[in-house]
Amino acid sequence: MATIGENLQVVRARIEAAARAASRDPHAVTLLAVSKTHGAARMREAIAAGQNAFGENYVQDAIAKMDALGTPMRRLEWHLIGPLQSNKTKLAAERFDWVHTIDREKIARRLSDQRPAGLAPLNVLIQVNVSGEASKSGVAPSAVQALASAIKDLPRVKLRGLMAIPEPTADLGLQRARLRAVHEIFTQLKQSGLEFDTLSMGMSDDMEAAITEGATLVRIGTAIFGTRKPEQGEDNIPPRPPKVRTAA
Ligand SMILES: *Cc1c(COP(=O)(O)O)cnc(C)c1O
Repeated sequence: MATIGENLQVVRARIEAAARAASRDPHAVTLLAVSKTHGAARMREAIAAGQNAFGENYVQDAIAKMDALGTPMRRLEWHLIGPLQSNKTKLAAERFDWVHTIDREKIARRLSDQRPAGLAPLNVLIQVNVSGEASKSGVAPSAVQALASAIKDLPRVKLRGLMAIPEPTADLGLQRARLRAVHEIFTQLKQSGLEFDTLSMGMSDDMEAAITEGATLVRIGTAIFGTRKPEQGEDNIPPRPPKVRTAA
């Protein structure tokens, strides 16, 4: 089995190849290693292989790992990429560098109010839903502009751009169209005067397409850390009820 260090090399090479094929600068695409469900020991392997930026879905799981890792040689960058409820904003504001999943003004306001004075403003992205009914998370494309206007002047958060999780689909044309739609909204908002520099889209299975369509940050889990066990310890989602076995 390949090591995490080897996987990281492969992923970096994929990013570079996709960027070059799209006539883009490979350095313009940041690699976020999505470490959800993987423990601090596996993260240490990635850190030893040069990875600095990590994505986590659950606030408390992430904080447990931050504490377990202590103070590594280099400063790490922590990105919250899972849904954020009001009761977790304080911890998120205190411990993360980025939050990718802003879909309500209220959450952004709380993060701004709760960001400690000694830290740089929290970087935030608005999550856009380009998959329609299929996805519950994120704001509709038509609502992005209004949300951006509402949060762009909050003092302790810095709106950096957009994030999207297009639903997986075997239809490559549809996949590209959704990624392109996010990029179009991103470009429009930039042209309207917002200082956007970050477009977070692309996962293990669609990173090349996302880079072709303008992603500046890809969120990669499986291709670095291997397949995940069924997700556990989720902050926000109640555990699934056990399957009821009926006697045959
Ligand atoms: C889990 C997750 C990823 C990583 O997905 P892989 O397919 O394992 O690369 C990226 N983004 C979000 C929001 C995730 O929840």
